[in-house]
Amino acid sequence: MKEQLLANPVFRMAADQFDRTADFLNLSVEIRKRCKWPMRLLTVSIPIKLDNGETEVFYGYRVQHQLSRGPVKGGLRFHPNVELGEVAALAMWMNWKCALMELPFGGGKGGVACDPRSMSQAELENLTRRYTSEMLPFIGPETDVMAPDMGTNEQTMSWMLDVYSTHAGHMVPGIVTGKPVKLMGSEGRTAATGHGVAFLAARALTKCKIKHETATAVIQGFGNVGYHAALTLERFGVKITGISDVTGAIFSVEGINIRKLAEHVEQTGGVRNYAGAAPIDPEVLLVQECDVLIPAALERVITEKNAAHLKCRVLAEAANGPTTTKADQIIEERGDIFLIPDILCNAGGVTCSYFEWVQNLQRFQWSEQEVLTKLDTKMAKAFDRVIAFSKYNKLPHRVAALALGIKEVADVKEQRGLFP
Ligand code: GLU
Repeated sequence: MKEQLLANPVFRMAADQFDRTADFLNLSVEIRKRCKWPMRLLTVSIPIKLDNGETEVFYGYRVQHQLSRGPVKGGLRFHPNVELGEVAALAMWMNWKCALMELPFGGGKGGVACDPRSMSQAELENLTRRYTSEMLPFIGPETDVMAPDMGTNEQTMSWMLDVYSTHAGHMVPGIVTGKPVKLMGSEGRTAATGHGVAFLAARALTKCKIKHETATAVIQGFGNVGYHAALTLERFGVKITGISDVTGAIFSVEGINIRKLAEHVEQTGGVRNYAGAAPIDPEVLLVQECDVLIPAALERVITEKNAAHLKCRVLAEAANGPTTTKADQIIEERGDIFLIPDILCNAGGVTCSYFEWVQNLQRFQWSEQEVLTKLDTKMAKAFDRVIAFSKYNKLPHRVAALALGIKEVADVKEQRGLFP
């Protein structure tokens, strides 16, 4: 199993990051092994009837990295590239992310290899319901709480809640987060990840002595995270000069109006052909001059090919694992880019999920203002801890963030001991 996982380039990246950080922390061989390898790796088949009457079998995964500090927490992804190794890497990052944010959760991630863009609502509903049914013995508000990720949304969460609650015989709101507010979702959750990204990017700009009103940002990805990061940055006075998605990329030195672009995307399905900006090659977009560059899509997009040519001051990793190990080295050597590492940068999502879960357990609902204030406080604290730890120990921001998360987990492993 270990070899199989390491053969996946995304898992290899997560493992390399872990090894480097474990070296710095000087973890014992035993604790290192117990922290690094995932606890449960589940693979299920999902046979469903398609709209054309044919039956298709999809494969779905859930990796529960660790349960030592509380229930497993993490999203469910629908994407054609999903495979077990990638899901395991994302689960490992969730583990360090939850620990860094001081949330009482372990990390998990789920995925189904499918192309949600080419599937009907009925097919997606069947897929989600069958996946949830297959997962029933392994999930629960005290064991594993899923949330939206790439290709899934609050509708997906509603179907999951429905399947779980139907089996339980009563409504169980704490089984998923990122659900609609009427189903006991949390105010602020939809915007939370993007909001957190923008909040930290703005904080990083201030650290770099760049005024928000004169700053520019380029964003790769215009899904839930990219859209809300753009909207919040725009509110802070930052000009969004470039955006890309699967359909193409656009650029405008005058800035792109985010709400107008969102209307265009609603009508046409993508950012391509937006009249208010010029088309640009998506790869070229990444190396445009800007103050903040935000990869908010897939893993491994900042590579050895483009890392030396980046012209940003702040690199805010809204996606999980967007920077390869080699690109990381290049960025470290350059020393002129302020990196906000993924497990910190996009932690607003899971932090707000934690608030949602707490509200669910208490059968209580907080106001949006209450949620966002609590979120900003937690994000600011984690950001300041990472920067201070990095300075004190002369570590890159990524290693500092990982070290704070991994240490938390390592301490708990040590205290709980090894059973039997
Ligand atoms: N999918 C999001 C992430 O990668 C959120 C997970 C959650 O809210 O549990 O952090």
